[in-house]
Amino acid sequence: MKQKEIGLKVSMPKEDCKDRHCPFHGDLKVRGRIFIGKVVKTGMHKTVTVEWPRLFYLPKYERFEKRRTRMKAHNPECMKAQIGDEVKIMESRPISKTKNFVVIEVIKHESSTV
Ligand SMILES: [Zn+2]
Repeated sequence: MKQKEIGLKVSMPKEDCKDRHCPFHGDLKVRGRIFIGKVVKTGMHKTVTVEWPRLFYLPKYERFEKRRTRMKAHNPECMKAQIGDEVKIMESRPISKTKNFVVIEVIKHESSTV
């Protein structure tokens, strides 16, 4: 299958895949918001749970509190995101009931961080 550009400066996956929900090899189009987060769960089929911190303002104390955002994202066959990996995810059309993001790049593999 031929790789296609997704309109972003990301490193193209080295491997090929037959995932139809892959933005590089399938017919999934990405658009919208981009987030960078850490993979915390990979249990579900071709799905990863990505988490990243955000600051939540508490007016009463005039301070910020750390909160986390968790999002499910599609993990295409060629991406192979693992738990602990830092990944870039991008919004797409809804892939399933709770998924409308897809992993477009694995920025850092867990194993490579010493
Ligand atoms: Zn692919």
